Amino acid sequence: MKLIVGTRSPGKTREIRELFAGLPFDVSFPADRLLQPLPEEADLERSTSYVENAVSKARYYAARSGLPAVSDDSGIEVDALGGAPGPRSARWSATGTDAENNTLLLEQLAGLPADKRTAHYRCIVAFLATPSSVPEIVEATCDGVILTEPRGTGGFGYDPLFYSEELHMTFGEAPPAAKHRVSHRGRAFRALIEVLLRRST
Ligand code: IMP
Repeated sequence: MKLIVGTRSPGKTREIRELFAGLPFDVSFPADRLLQPLPEEADLERSTSYVENAVSKARYYAARSGLPAVSDDSGIEVDALGGAPGPRSARWSATGTDAENNTLLLEQLAGLPADKRTAHYRCIVAFLATPSSVPEIVEATCDGVILTEPRGTGGFGYDPLFYSEELHMTFGEAPPAAKHRVSHRGRAFRALIEVLLRRST
């Protein structure tokens, strides 16, 4: 099955390629199909709802490519911040760079003990067979704790601060396969892949 994955994030692109590796899908990304220049993804993410963001990105890329489209909207939810930054995770700080987002998060949690630093990643994936199809939505989360300083250089975004109790290391320290095994994105894409394989039989 041919699929376009509607993301321009290098971190997500790498992970989603890995999650589809070896499976019977011909996966491409906007850049592969010369679907550039694209409008700022921010324009497609005006909503503060993950589901609306994921569906609007998938609908846009399905229309642009003529292919079935998948899009992931994700974020980190920190309990001490009432679930923020959530859908706004990518642009939480003024510049929205990973480094500045991480610095801001550390500042906001300064002085909090470990048991008050719990957080969750959430990933919503939308699949649209055509731009006007009813979307198929899957969702997954994973739990962790925000450390007081970064550890590891792998992953992307908030990963060096996100300590997984399942892995006993941060997602910045985890080898990609280990992160995929427990991560919100790994779990959500495995669920979507099951749905797509069932649909095609
Ligand atoms: P969006 O889905 O493009 O709006 O962006 C999701 C944002 O959430 C990313 O830019 C990161 O800041 C954060 N995020 C989502 N998933 C991950 C992850 O697996 N690791 C680190 N940060 C993530």
